[in-house]
Amino acid sequence: MEQLYFSPMLLGICLLVAIALCATALFRTVPGEPGPGFWLAGCWSLIAGIVLFLIFVITRNPVLNVLGNALQLAGEALFLLGIFRFFGRRVPWWTLPASTGVMVLFNSWYWLANGSSDLLMGVYSSIAGLLPLQAIMLLLHESRDPATRPARLLVTVGLLIYSAVTLLRGILGYRNWWLDAAYVQPYESFSYLLSYNFALPALVLGFVGCCLMTTQRVLARSQQLAAQLQEQTFRDPLTGAFNRRAFHRQLADEVARSERYGRPLCLAIFDLDHFKQLNDQLGHQAGDHALQHFAALCQQQARHSDLFARFGGEEFVLLMPETSATQASHSLERLRQLVEAHPFQYRQQRYNLRVSIGLAQRQMSDNADQLLRQADLALYQAKSQGRNQLQLWSAEPTVAY
Ligand code: GH3
Ligand code: MG
Ligand code: MG
Repeated sequence: MEQLYFSPMLLGICLLVAIALCATALFRTVPGEPGPGFWLAGCWSLIAGIVLFLIFVITRNPVLNVLGNALQLAGEALFLLGIFRFFGRRVPWWTLPASTGVMVLFNSWYWLANGSSDLLMGVYSSIAGLLPLQAIMLLLHESRDPATRPARLLVTVGLLIYSAVTLLRGILGYRNWWLDAAYVQPYESFSYLLSYNFALPALVLGFVGCCLMTTQRVLARSQQLAAQLQEQTFRDPLTGAFNRRAFHRQLADEVARSERYGRPLCLAIFDLDHFKQLNDQLGHQAGDHALQHFAALCQQQARHSDLFARFGGEEFVLLMPETSATQASHSLERLRQLVEAHPFQYRQQRYNLRVSIGLAQRQMSDNADQLLRQADLALYQAKSQGRNQLQLWSAEPTVAY
């Protein structure tokens, strides 16, 4: 029996040392992350408490018993407070002095008044078993951090098992005290086996869940960061439209799709009229406003499947998959009129904006360069025929729409 008692206890301490080292590593790996600091302090405090208890078993020094129990409860409380910190909730600090305070008072009374050790264990286990309930409620209701959901479940299950087993141990203590059962050496008592065989591993499970929650959160955040960076590499910072790189990538894909399935594909190139003049007269900042205004109008009009991009300077492109030249001409003409009808505002003044548009529909076996060149030729035609108009490229000389 003695062996049975000591082996789970030593195993328990080994487990605790392992998770304390993990907590230390976690704390150093994700500095500043809320939670791991508490878990680190909690684990080492639990270990210190158990070591003091072991020394007490050998020396029978009551102070070590009182301190050991208080440190173990403080460790558990800190571990649980870390969960509140992790989710950015108000930390119920009061649980720390309340649990250790009650324990120190009761434990001191036990030694001074020669109280019942079963009652002492009942009180200790009640406090230890009730402590996680607040954190369990938080874990069950927390919905702010969806990335941590699976690990949160693991922590909840671990804490529930720990709480149930510890409370059961408390009930056994009260029962023995009530029945005035004969004193049993700790290492021979079923309730000690219960705590080291079941409660402690459940707490370790909860801790593993906490580590997972942290890594899941950090991973989700870095993935978000990577997605944002990726997004930035395909966006024009001034207008928020896609940039030339994004356009070329999409153009190649759409040309391949149009070729494979024989589907229509249209490409329009926009060039703002006399933009240099606008820049020279009103200044570069006004020009920027005009570009933003124009891009916003186009993005409002573009369909979800279209790709609107800034090609460079005051030139933009609109790639329209599954669109015939007739359909594209109608919507582009509407867009041109919209731009004409919506002057842009700069320093309480309104200024007209005009745009010339070249449109090309992909012909059989045309590649991306050919399509781009045809739209450009149509744009050139629109410019040379007086600007502020849409021209459609055709194999014959281009025609005004
Ligand atoms: P056209 O009617 O023939 O298109 O003449 P244009 O003046 O619009 O064309 P041009 O190519 O001569 O001038 C384009 C101007 O666009 C020149 C350049 O300074 C300006 N520009 C290019 N990029 C930007 C930008 O990001 N911001 C601003 N404000 N101006 C820009
Ligand atoms: Mg230009
Ligand atoms: Mg221009």
